[in-house]
Amino acid sequence: MSEFEPVIGLEVHLALSTKSKMFCGCPAETFGSAPNTHTCPVCLGLPGSLPTINRAAFDKALMFALALGCSVPERTQFHRKNYFYPDAPKNYQISQYDHPVGEHGFIELGGRRVGVTRCHVEEDAGRSQHPLYAPYSLVDLNRAGAPLLEMVTEPDLRTPEEAREFLNKVRAIARALGVSDANPEEGKLRADVNVSVRRPGAPFGTKVEVKNLNSFRSVQRALEFEIKRQSRILADSGSVRQDTLGWDEGGQKTYLMRTKEGEADYRYFPDPDLPPVRIDAAWLERLRADTPELPDAKEARYVGLGVRADTAALLAYDTELSSFFDRTLKTSGGNAQAVANWLGGDVTGYLNANGLTLETSKLTPEHLARLVDLVERGTISGKVAKELLPDVIGGASPEALVRVRGLEQVTDASALGSVVDAVLAENPKLVDEAKANPKAVNALLGRVIKSTGGKAKPELVRELIVQKLG
Ligand SMILES: [Zn+2]
Repeated sequence: MSEFEPVIGLEVHLALSTKSKMFCGCPAETFGSAPNTHTCPVCLGLPGSLPTINRAAFDKALMFALALGCSVPERTQFHRKNYFYPDAPKNYQISQYDHPVGEHGFIELGGRRVGVTRCHVEEDAGRSQHPLYAPYSLVDLNRAGAPLLEMVTEPDLRTPEEAREFLNKVRAIARALGVSDANPEEGKLRADVNVSVRRPGAPFGTKVEVKNLNSFRSVQRALEFEIKRQSRILADSGSVRQDTLGWDEGGQKTYLMRTKEGEADYRYFPDPDLPPVRIDAAWLERLRADTPELPDAKEARYVGLGVRADTAALLAYDTELSSFFDRTLKTSGGNAQAVANWLGGDVTGYLNANGLTLETSKLTPEHLARLVDLVERGTISGKVAKELLPDVIGGASPEALVRVRGLEQVTDASALGSVVDAVLAENPKLVDEAKANPKAVNALLGRVIKSTGGKAKPELVRELIVQKLG
């Protein structure tokens, strides 16, 4: 199959995190609410109702477009996209057509630019449910009219893994900007993929669209499946049909949803109920000033602080981790690499293993900073700090724990000296070995540390042993 090269483009829908829907005052966040409890004449499309534009949603869409380096027009407009769907009560969707909020942007991925063709604002549809074996379907219009940002990429992606990485990056950017939770599990980030295959260097092949991908894993699997399927067809000298496919999560395969509609089928026309939106320089200036630091910039800043590149990326692309890291740095002695290692390593490991997150745990930036400082200053060993970590994550103060449990590292040479003397006296055989072979000192070192309950500072013990052995 490897004689064919995949060509992949994505369409990503982000649910904008606003209080109200795109064109009415109903709450936008309805996940988990009883069906049809957040609707009004506007989002139900009742005759005589008039939409008004949600300024906050528009701001967020614009901020996202700007962050992606899109060019933003001075005037944008909403269009009606006409189609009949049981979960679209107006029989049209308010979307944007030839005047989207942003065009010609990009996202950097692995050192190269993946083109973003356009970003536009639109309203979400409701949800249809098809109860198993029931002779009816159910419609929930809570989501109808919720604000969405649709982002369409150029066909610049080449592998399923790359597509997944790209989505990770979109999610990180959206969260860093606060424009969307971008949580696929709650339907806050939904991706459709366009995929074709071709012989390298040949013109683009016929693409198919795969819809209903509700996780990044499904995106990757659906792409892998389609690439194999299309490569087989082309290898047998067949031709791929331009269809819209669905993804069968249970069967891990694509299926035909419908033959592809052309743009003409949607009969786009400007929505006569909504005025065009003028975007002036002052508006853009204000948005630029309000734009928080983006993940790429964060990563570079962390590397500049001395954090290892892989740890820097891990922290920068996780909004929760990076915010915690920044707050910890503010209160710590300043060893960014040490704080990053603890946060990205032991802390994350413990939280994951125990089904916790930084938000649900009782760990505070101050406590993490104190724990790291205690190790850095040599008050406790790294080993003791790891033992304290579960209690610190549980809300305990590291300094109080060290005091109450008497865990200060023994750094007093005279106190340690007598322990070393005792251990040397008890282990004449090890002493002889150590005299013959410097590597054998480790056995003695271990015994001294053990008899201090792990509190002796290893470097000091080693020094003392070497001294006493002459
Ligand atoms: Zn409404």
